[in-house]
Amino acid sequence: MRPILVFVEVRDGVIKRVSFEVLSEARQLLLRGLPASGVYAVLIGDQLTDAAHEIVKKGWADRLYLVENTSYRYYSSERYASVVAEMIKRMDASLILMGATAMGRDLGPKVAAKLRVPVAQDCTALDVDLKHGVVATRPVYGGKAITKVHAQEGIRHFVVTVRPNVFSAGAPPINEEGAIEPFTSTLPDPVIKSVVTEVIAAASAKVDLTEAQIIVSGGRGLRESSNFSLLEELASTLNAAVGASRAAVDAGWKPHSYQVGLTGKTVSPLLYIACGISGAIQHQAGMSSSRYIVAINKDPNAPIFKIASVGIVGDLFEIIPRLTALLRKRAASH
Ligand SMILES: Cc1cc2nc3c(=O)[nH]c(=O)nc-3n(C[C@H](O)[C@H](O)[C@H](O)COP(=O)(O)OP(=O)(O)OC[C@H]3O[C@@H](n4cnc5c(N)ncnc54)[C@H](O)[C@@H]3O)c2cc1C
Repeated sequence: MRPILVFVEVRDGVIKRVSFEVLSEARQLLLRGLPASGVYAVLIGDQLTDAAHEIVKKGWADRLYLVENTSYRYYSSERYASVVAEMIKRMDASLILMGATAMGRDLGPKVAAKLRVPVAQDCTALDVDLKHGVVATRPVYGGKAITKVHAQEGIRHFVVTVRPNVFSAGAPPINEEGAIEPFTSTLPDPVIKSVVTEVIAAASAKVDLTEAQIIVSGGRGLRESSNFSLLEELASTLNAAVGASRAAVDAGWKPHSYQVGLTGKTVSPLLYIACGISGAIQHQAGMSSSRYIVAINKDPNAPIFKIASVGIVGDLFEIIPRLTALLRKRAASH
């Protein structure tokens, strides 16, 4: 039998939450009958000892391949894709899973192209079918339709990236410690077309939008940039990230890194609070898979209410400060 390989993403020594979701889902696939010899993880970067131990100590993976070298310190499409593809071939992994983060969305197709195998991007469900193996569900046309995809018979490797916050990270399913094995590429260095020399985090991003469990997002209804402080206050009481619609970004109220939607970020938090956002399909494309959606809008016919779990019809300038005060009071009494 052949293993499932999970690419574990680490940023600044911290494992991205989606990687635990992917590892957990890989185990679930085995439990649901996918024939595989185990769940293997691959970690690429520099100074990864702590992260590697975190994965194997609690049994998140049966085996972890560590590709550790200063040349892997920053993500490089060519370098990472080359080593992951080599690893897949060497261990003959049947299924390769990774988070559909900015890195995963770039790496997945590159690895697939190198191996000339299919890739299914940004999947929101994985099923096991005895005939086809893994069948992945992908929202398409901005979430208006879904497709189910699987690898053709005879294809040796299938690359799948999964949407963050859709799968549960659960608890590590076994108590047995996995093994860490260093992996060294035997291939000549790939041709590197671009080199990252430094990564500067946006000072404003307190909580990463794509990793956030709760997002408070604002649109044109906020009227001006300074009114985003209302959302920031609400977000701080909920330990939430702040997002924005394209209208708010185009108006220059927030940088593009805040934009949620078709041409912005895809998010799937537990809770998405849309404030003064009409809910155009292009916005919905980036947030409709949120577990719960709360919409605050003064227009009862705003399309956002069609997908909202809870709709509040009213003026956000009255509702948000009241909500923030209420949450602060509750937090203080606990
Ligand atoms: C190719 C393409 C890609 C796009 N990509 C994106 C994308 O990635 N993300 C995105 O968001 N959009 C995207 N758009 C734009 C999208 O079509 C909408 O124009 C945009 O989402 C509207 O933003 P909005 O909801 O903030 O503004 P509006 O549609 O103007 O809605 C503002 C809402 O605020 C409400 N409101 C006003 N005042 C108050 C108040 N005091 N209290 C409560 N509610 C109030 C109004 O009732 C209204 O519903 C894209 C469009 C195209 C064509």
